[in-house]
Amino acid sequence: MDSFWSRTARMPQFAPLKDSLQTGVLVIGGGMAGVLCAWLLKQAGVDCVLLEAGRIGGGTTGGTTAKLTAQHGLIYDKLIRRFGLDAAKLYWQANQDALERFRLMSREIDCDFQDKDNWIYSLDDREGLERERKALEQTGAPVKFCQDPPLPFDTVGAVGVPGQGQFHPLKFLAAIAKDLPIYEHTRVLGWKPGEVRTAYGAVRAKQVIVATHFPFITNHGFYFLKLYQSRSYVLALRNASAMDGMYLDASGTGLSFRAYGDVLLMGGGGHRTGKGKCGWQSLEDAAKRYYPNAEQICRWAAQDCMTLDDAPYAGRYSRRTPGLYVITGFNKWGMTGSMLSAAMVTDMILGRKNPYEDLFSPSRTILRPQLAANALEAAASLLTLRKPRCPHMGCALKYNPAEHSWDCPCHGSRFAGDDGAVIDGPANGGGSFSL
Ligand SMILES: Cc1cc2nc3c(=O)[nH]c(=O)nc-3n(C[C@H](O)[C@H](O)[C@H](O)COP(=O)(O)OP(=O)(O)OC[C@H]3O[C@@H](n4cnc5c(N)ncnc54)[C@H](O)[C@@H]3O)c2cc1C
Repeated sequence: MDSFWSRTARMPQFAPLKDSLQTGVLVIGGGMAGVLCAWLLKQAGVDCVLLEAGRIGGGTTGGTTAKLTAQHGLIYDKLIRRFGLDAAKLYWQANQDALERFRLMSREIDCDFQDKDNWIYSLDDREGLERERKALEQTGAPVKFCQDPPLPFDTVGAVGVPGQGQFHPLKFLAAIAKDLPIYEHTRVLGWKPGEVRTAYGAVRAKQVIVATHFPFITNHGFYFLKLYQSRSYVLALRNASAMDGMYLDASGTGLSFRAYGDVLLMGGGGHRTGKGKCGWQSLEDAAKRYYPNAEQICRWAAQDCMTLDDAPYAGRYSRRTPGLYVITGFNKWGMTGSMLSAAMVTDMILGRKNPYEDLFSPSRTILRPQLAANALEAAASLLTLRKPRCPHMGCALKYNPAEHSWDCPCHGSRFAGDDGAVIDGPANGGGSFSL
């Protein structure tokens, strides 16, 4: 992915695995979640190795907008209704702790960390904003309200949290990865207890962390029912008006803004991967309307894993797989999500109690309305006779003309339009789709 971040960071390079090896902990996946796991384990003196299918930071982490905040849309009102006030307080604390860890680490790392206020605005739902303000107050978060946020269109206000942050995600990742035992271009093709298989040999490890974005081991944990992927689009604009603070539309379908120096990052156009229209056109129309003098210097798309209840899955992969851990399902909030999950899984491996284990447990209830939506989507796609089919679970792929790829509406795997090579998992190892 050619994003603004990948153009402006120098990533360290690592050789592929050459031979079979043994380690204490194996981390699979070199995005923010996996690299933070390896870094924290190394800090704790644990013998570990990280395997990355492509280049570190080349997945969704390279396409993020890198807001560091514990304010994830209008989530606290939902969390209180869904899990209760104590759980909402824990969610706030976990993400706020994660933000503080980034702040602390960024003192030693040249990654353009800046303190910023975060804002969730709405075009028409003042009541929703008021409910969220109240929920944040109950949670104990510092909260502000702005009647007329400095955005280039009318809103009914914005609810904000001060003292959050933003940074350059790949400069950060490059700095913490450079001395870690990482093998790039080494895809894990299969797992069995205590061992994984790659094209270059096996890696034996008592503990394995799957941080591959969408987990690729399908016969445990029901992730094919618990997750879907949502794709969204980002423009980097120069000569747009200056913006202080980070902004996101409350509806989940509107625009996101943050600045990086004199560049404005404007995101939006989100839709379920493999369904719905590519969002670049609507974003580019919005950019012309709101910033007619701006120059577009870069655009990209990326996708994230969405859970059934808006909280990530971090912890034991399933009840039947001792020694196997997972980190996934960030619902487009995977910066603090990666940090809190990596810290939690590291604690679990070290045998330390972590206060957030139950809240983010992948084994929590799956009885949520989104489960039916995921199941229906899979059923409809499996019953569609069209080819090609996805090698992950056999769903019918849909051609994406804007990105010249074949995309899966069930789980979000994507394949190159010319040779069918895997671009995004969970499809793994086959290297191509089946015709
Ligand atoms: C447009 C957009 C904007 C966002 N903005 C924000 C934001 O402002 N703030 C925020 O907190 N979050 C944001 N997010 C979410 C956040 O970027 C992601 O949740 C996070 O980057 C996910 O990190 P990850 O490590 O789980 O996945 P990835 O970065 O995708 O890393 C997974 C890695 O695993 C590797 N891999 C996959 N399969 C295998 C295998 N079999 N063997 C070896 N390696 C494998 C992949 O190559 C990849 O490098 C945004 C997301 C999107 C899509």
